[in-house]
Amino acid sequence: MDFSESNKDLWKEIYNSEDLLHCFNCSTCISGCPASHGEPPLLVRNLARMVVYGLEDELLDEDTPWTCVSCSQCEEMCPMDVKPFELILAIRKWQSSNDETRVPTAIVEIYQRGYTQAVGTNTELRESLGLPELQTITKMPEQLKLFQEMLMKTPVVSENDYMFKEE
Ligand code: SF4
Ligand code: SF4
Repeated sequence: MDFSESNKDLWKEIYNSEDLLHCFNCSTCISGCPASHGEPPLLVRNLARMVVYGLEDELLDEDTPWTCVSCSQCEEMCPMDVKPFELILAIRKWQSSNDETRVPTAIVEIYQRGYTQAVGTNTELRESLGLPELQTITKMPEQLKLFQEMLMKTPVVSENDYMFKEE
């Protein structure tokens, strides 16, 4: 990898906490992270490395910070007090400031399905365990419609309405 064009001050721009420099890539944050099982997986340790190494272009293209479900488990687990969840939020904020398509793109799934994560993917596993099917907003079309009408009143959706088509 070519580091000659990396931004050595990127970590100050994004996070500005020396706690980040204490990350030693142990992966503890990943072991309890539900989004680390996604495709592609959310790997906080890799994101922390990108920030510290100043890999701006690679970080700007990273979609995985947007798959975080805000459970905060990584905050509890990190032995170096890096506060990985705070780092994820800071990366999202930085990406949104540098790429105006980030926020509307992240909202498309919420608009179409009422949630950000594919919560129905465990359907077969739940069935095999004898657990009832999850009731999500997609099974309540009237509520989903109301939710979409509410979102359509927000500037970020109405100004980009071509992106928000019903499935
Ligand atoms: S807060 Fe986000 S990054 Fe941290 S464990 Fe939960 S899903 Fe993973
Ligand atoms: S953020 Fe914390 S838990 Fe995650 S790899 Fe770095 S030191 Fe380990």
